[in-house]
Amino acid sequence: MSDHKVTIEGKYPGRYRFKGEFHQGAPSQPIRDDQGKLWGVTKPRRIVHVHALGAEGQFFQAIAEDRKLLATRCNNPDCEGKGTEYLPFRIHCPDCLGLMEVIDVTQRAIEGAQVYTYVITNRTGAFNTLDTPIRFIDIQIPGIATFLKGYMIGSGEPSIGLRVIPVFQQKPSYTIKDLAWVVQGTTESDLLEGWTFADK
Ligand SMILES: [Zn+2]
Repeated sequence: MSDHKVTIEGKYPGRYRFKGEFHQGAPSQPIRDDQGKLWGVTKPRRIVHVHALGAEGQFFQAIAEDRKLLATRCNNPDCEGKGTEYLPFRIHCPDCLGLMEVIDVTQRAIEGAQVYTYVITNRTGAFNTLDTPIRFIDIQIPGIATFLKGYMIGSGEPSIGLRVIPVFQQKPSYTIKDLAWVVQGTTESDLLEGWTFADK
């Protein structure tokens, strides 16, 4: 089945219309019983599911295209949680519901990200697209109030307190899988093909 391209047209604020190819077919094949009698026919169809990213689009664009890790911070002086920083990326403050400021925490992650806890599993989400066993880690970044989930690639086993560095997929999928983590000290030549460090 061929590639697809979907774009949006936004002529009016808050309204948009999708353009593109959402349904694709492929040639049918006969289905026969054990005597060779025609029982039915396959009708392969692919449906493109659209996942809107909303204001989180900037987070995914940063990891996919700029090799940057963005977080958010509440700057509302009237908020009890003023100054609190969040990653996973969230747009609105959970305390005051105000719009938060987007901050770049790439360097902070490079200099201080640690494994808070981890799990090693052979089962992942739909379509099993990660190599198994998967080393899922919860990442603690200095100054950030929440933990980011991620996965380790390359050599090394996760452990609590392990220092890790973010790496980015060179051919992005525009999903969270574009971001992974390696043990601190991993060099460019140790990195798995297709992955790269943040720009210096
Ligand atoms: Zn707030």
